[in-house]
Amino acid sequence: SDKWARPEKTISTVCPYCGVGCRMKLGVEDERIVSIAPDREGPVNRGQLCVKGRFGLDEIVHHPDRITTPLIRRNGRFEEATLEEALDLVARRFSEIRDEYGPDSLGALSSSRCTNEENYLVQKLARAVFGTNNVDNCARVCHAPSVTGLAACFGSGAATNSFDQIEDADVLFVIGSNTTEAHPIVGLKVIKAANKGTKIIVADPRKIELVDRAKVWLNLRPGTNIALLNGMMNVILREGLEDGEFIASRTEGFEEFRKVVDGYTPERAAEITGVPAADIVEAARLYASAEKAMIIYSLGMTEHVTGTANVISLGNLAMLTGNVGRRSTGVMPLRGQNNVQGACDMGALPNNHVGYQPVTDARVRSKFEEAWGVRLPADPGLTSTEMLERLAEGRGIRGLYILGEDPAQTDPDTNRVRSSLEALEFLVVQEIFPTETTKYADVILPAASFAECDGTFTNGERRIQRVNRAIPPLGGLANWETICLIAQKMGYPMSYADPSEIMDEISSLAPIFAGVSFSRLGGLGLQWPCPSIDHPGTETMHLGCFSRGLGKFNPVEHRPPAEETDPDYPLILTTGRRREHYNCGSMTRRSKGIMWVWPEETIEISPADAEDLGIEDGETVLVRSRRGEVRVKARVTEKSSRGVAFLSFHYANVLTNLLTNAALDPVAKTPEYKACAIRVEKVPS
Ligand code: SF4
Repeated sequence: SDKWARPEKTISTVCPYCGVGCRMKLGVEDERIVSIAPDREGPVNRGQLCVKGRFGLDEIVHHPDRITTPLIRRNGRFEEATLEEALDLVARRFSEIRDEYGPDSLGALSSSRCTNEENYLVQKLARAVFGTNNVDNCARVCHAPSVTGLAACFGSGAATNSFDQIEDADVLFVIGSNTTEAHPIVGLKVIKAANKGTKIIVADPRKIELVDRAKVWLNLRPGTNIALLNGMMNVILREGLEDGEFIASRTEGFEEFRKVVDGYTPERAAEITGVPAADIVEAARLYASAEKAMIIYSLGMTEHVTGTANVISLGNLAMLTGNVGRRSTGVMPLRGQNNVQGACDMGALPNNHVGYQPVTDARVRSKFEEAWGVRLPADPGLTSTEMLERLAEGRGIRGLYILGEDPAQTDPDTNRVRSSLEALEFLVVQEIFPTETTKYADVILPAASFAECDGTFTNGERRIQRVNRAIPPLGGLANWETICLIAQKMGYPMSYADPSEIMDEISSLAPIFAGVSFSRLGGLGLQWPCPSIDHPGTETMHLGCFSRGLGKFNPVEHRPPAEETDPDYPLILTTGRRREHYNCGSMTRRSKGIMWVWPEETIEISPADAEDLGIEDGETVLVRSRRGEVRVKARVTEKSSRGVAFLSFHYANVLTNLLTNAALDPVAKTPEYKACAIRVEKVPS
């Protein structure tokens, strides 16, 4: 109808799903979202949206399941309460726990689905009001190794280049990223580049869509990335394809690194990875001979016990060939959630204040103490994975505030997570929908959805973009207002007129955001670092000089996954995302259109494994690991290599994370979702 074609007003904002950061226009009639269209001015998407952004949001905002009233658990049941009642209880219980057991008995999990301003306030609540550095966000279970790994190489843990530069690369090395499914609009840029003649190298244990576009497919065993990359670098050095001038003038640590790489002949790398030595040689020559070679990676690199070392390995490869610090080169982590970059940037991390300023640095601490008028803790806090691990062991925190996260579905080893959440004395969850995690809450607070928020998101290329409110918050309060009220009721004067004031405080305290203000963001946003009000933002990092001065080669050795196959558990399960759904699925599973396209989860197994097990396509099977079991339909597909099975974790009725392993990368504390041992059985009739 005309009404739908021309809504009363249209509001330009940012997609709340993935970290690509597509801009979209929300059509609004009578305070309801009535249409969604791509924004042609969007600097990343330029008029495109993927299926989730285009069709997976319209029913979500006004869905009848939205939590719009606070709920308090009384006698084992949730009862409706007023905001005043709920917030009083939250403030009283958090204050009691803090006063009785000390500040470190509390913790907060901030949300990478929420705005920068909300994330900044959650970490301020934890540090200035709770008095603890126990604050984290879901980057811990995805891209924390990008932060630690890239910082170790370059001095900054963010993407080095911009998405737009993908199309001009001569070679794209896509490793551990199912780009067309998990980051579809970036996937389109890769396809466009391939159509223009860019050579694609894919390293992935599954036959993902991009394999069809690839010059070389490195079909490696899950968890063998370091051996593969060291093998490629061995070839590059043996054949003299390294960039000697770049190594000499811009890096340090080369000789130590070389000693380790010398041990990874292509033959040895082939033995560990299962990739033919000739393919390793071809990929190495292709990458090293390119004028401009860019690496694109994602969780296939980070969600391993070697996550940080995997990312370091990519930094080593880029520096070895001088493929960093120029346009259309560099190392591009594709960030998962829409604002996971921003949640980290804002200091929702146990070791850093906003702008990656260490909590252990006395000068940094005193700057924040002066600005916030409190004494601040000096030791790093617990990561989210450590908080849950200790709870499962009956120690650690007692009270937890979770904003917009669902660890009971998305964290590994669900049975252990459930025991951890049950062990809490007091759990507050602020959410838009009931989730697996809200089942464990003492208080559920309504959260505002993206359409109800004013503020900013930062996408995977460090671009800070304005998020504009289209309708008033359905639960009555903006998320930042709820956080301020909790702080005030706990006796701390946290108060702002609007989110732009929060951003002004952020830019006054963090040098990399010093030039950022709402008035400068416009439709294009700004890419940090943006150190002054006349700075245009940074498209390409490390031009002429790395953030840490010299780039650092760090030698890394292959280490197998924490859990390997054996006769009882003979298959490797690797997990990931599907194009149509998003993470815990609390949003996409409530979209009729999305559920029509992708209604249920299936475990993907290879035809060879299916034949061995006597399993037919579409048959329901039992999947067991050492930690749990799920029933799910089998999908027999060439996408899966022999010995490797795949599940997503979008469905609450197939809790994939009952199976996964919580073994952690020792540096970033990120769990190994990408490799655990399972067996697949026929369901007895
Ligand atoms: Fe949204 Fe990501 Fe799809 Fe863009 S690619 S529309 S940001 S889900």
